[in-house]
Amino acid sequence: MPQIFYEGIYHDHVDAFIAGEVPVVPAPRRDDLTTPESGYRYVVGADGLSVQAATPLMRVAAPLQTWSADSGPRLGPVPIGIAFPCGKPPMGLLREAQHQAAQVAPNEWAALIGHDGEHWRLIVPEPERQGPSHIRYSRDAIGDIDLYLDLHTHGDGPAFFSGTDNADDIDGVHFAAVIGHARAREPSVALRLVIHGHHFDATYSLASLFDPT
Ligand SMILES: [Zn+2]
Repeated sequence: MPQIFYEGIYHDHVDAFIAGEVPVVPAPRRDDLTTPESGYRYVVGADGLSVQAATPLMRVAAPLQTWSADSGPRLGPVPIGIAFPCGKPPMGLLREAQHQAAQVAPNEWAALIGHDGEHWRLIVPEPERQGPSHIRYSRDAIGDIDLYLDLHTHGDGPAFFSGTDNADDIDGVHFAAVIGHARAREPSVALRLVIHGHHFDATYSLASLFDPT
């Protein structure tokens, strides 16, 4: 089986441990590639490389690199897609977040939207430091929820992912959003998917991540 290809490579036990933590799967041509129910792995296919991950809230596969299937290995296609086993959080949580963000502008504001196993929740952590160009809070605020959306604002400034934001988004599987011009009638939004430090710019809207009903 595939493990045989690892023989003779990992003599160091730390290297061997890390290799076990970062599975790489060649995509099958004839079998369906099952979606894992937890954890993450890289999938190499005929047409590229993707990262596939699962949490209680998301099953996701996103492309890291693509190439022509004509020149690629004789494998199956890489999986691409996203599914939400718990559905999406109610739109009211986004409205509440936007309302609170506008109240504290020009200061930045931050919130976490996640699921506690029974309900969707909007968590607004107590800031340790807060101003028009920064906000800091303890990551302990996440508590026991499964994180869906990590949200912060740039007060009256534009929405973009700063170097600090990039350094913060290195862990887990969740969406991350920055709301700019928080007091404007139509705030600006920067949105991406985070999969263990890989960042995927969204081609969808922030509102599309919520259940409008
Ligand atoms: Zn930021």
